[in-house]
Amino acid sequence: MEAIQYDLIVVGAGPAGSAAAKVAAEQGLKVILLEEHTEIGIPAHCYGVIYGAMFPAFTEEILGSVDKKVIISRYSTYRIYTPSGKMAGEVAMAGKGDYLVRRDAFDRELAKQAVNAGADLRINTRVTGLVKKDGRVIGVTTSSTAAPNIYGKLVIGADGIHAAAKGTPRWAELTGAGQPFVGGVLLELTRLRDIEPDVREYHVGTFVNTGWTCINPYDATSGTTHFASMAEFEKVKTGNYAISRKMRDAIPVRMTGWSHPARLGEGLPKMVADGLILAGSAAGLVGTMHCVVSGHYAAQVALEAIKVNEVTEKKLERYEDLCKELIRPCFVDALPFSNLSDEAIEHFVLANIEKKGLNFGDWSF
Ligand SMILES: Cc1cc2nc3c(=O)[nH]c(=O)nc-3n(C[C@H](O)[C@H](O)[C@H](O)COP(=O)(O)OP(=O)(O)OC[C@H]3O[C@@H](n4cnc5c(N)ncnc54)[C@H](O)[C@@H]3O)c2cc1C
Repeated sequence: MEAIQYDLIVVGAGPAGSAAAKVAAEQGLKVILLEEHTEIGIPAHCYGVIYGAMFPAFTEEILGSVDKKVIISRYSTYRIYTPSGKMAGEVAMAGKGDYLVRRDAFDRELAKQAVNAGADLRINTRVTGLVKKDGRVIGVTTSSTAAPNIYGKLVIGADGIHAAAKGTPRWAELTGAGQPFVGGVLLELTRLRDIEPDVREYHVGTFVNTGWTCINPYDATSGTTHFASMAEFEKVKTGNYAISRKMRDAIPVRMTGWSHPARLGEGLPKMVADGLILAGSAAGLVGTMHCVVSGHYAAQVALEAIKVNEVTEKKLERYEDLCKELIRPCFVDALPFSNLSDEAIEHFVLANIEKKGLNFGDWSF
């Protein structure tokens, strides 16, 4: 059995974890990156839209660093359809628009970058708990029989949304009580019609449980969408909504699950403890690029703390300050559409578009 000691343990090889592992390894830390799945990025629970307007220079740098095949296309325009089926607004994206990436391949690229920087990656290794000494986190327990205990000077928890929202026991002191979840199916559809490859569509109204869904085209006849269930998809497909005629002949070629807590993107009140930093969605943040940025911040702060051998909550609090710019309460939280009537939703959408245009990146995942 291995007795394993690292400077930094990173839990979860999603965008936040791989970004953190890469930056820390580049700076000379001995890093281990632990991923529970056998294939990084699979299953993908994300559309893969990278909002170009949010961190423009950083986004270009990250996308410039991955294999070009990861980038599928760009969206120049967003359209929004109100409950009455009216096409209420068309918003041109700022700058170069938003990118669409293959999220599973994107995640693998970032994990490879971490490995190339010197991080030790273990797939098929689920973190099951924390090891603590005098209240400070000093390691993790894992599902691996070869390495059931791994020790580190600091742990970065980047294991995604469920950790933040459900209060996974290992982060319990930070995440507190669980929150209600919404969720459903994320579908890749073929035989869509009346869509345009560079136009992302939002359809809002009580016809779907969460109050909105969207079509993210891959090309002129295929793309992704989400629903609460397959039954809801079938209802919409055969119904009489604006989106129905686009989906009438559509066939799913891929289905994964999705879920998120009722409160999304607002960040946890506490993201650090002695020996522990939470990054990305585990810290209650949302958005692929936001999570990458938080991974960078986590690595920077971890590095500073490890250098002076002071991995205390107090020393790590700088990370929480840095993350303030990443707080982004989402649409589903800011406006609980599912509790509004179609008339109220229609009014909200039209009034907002008239007032300032809708910044789609601000209100959706
Ligand atoms: C339906 C849907 C669509 C979305 N679309 C978009 C979009 O288009 N654009 C956008 O910017 N954001 C989108 N998001 C949000 C985005 O997917 C997340 O904000 C982002 O994936 C969070 O990255 P992360 O690295 O923090 O966590 P994750 O991507 O969730 O990665 C966590 C990793 O940790 C691993 N892990 C979990 N538990 C353990 C464990 N115990 N041990 C070891 N490993 C573990 C997981 O397998 C996973 O690889 C969407 C979300 C949903 C629900």
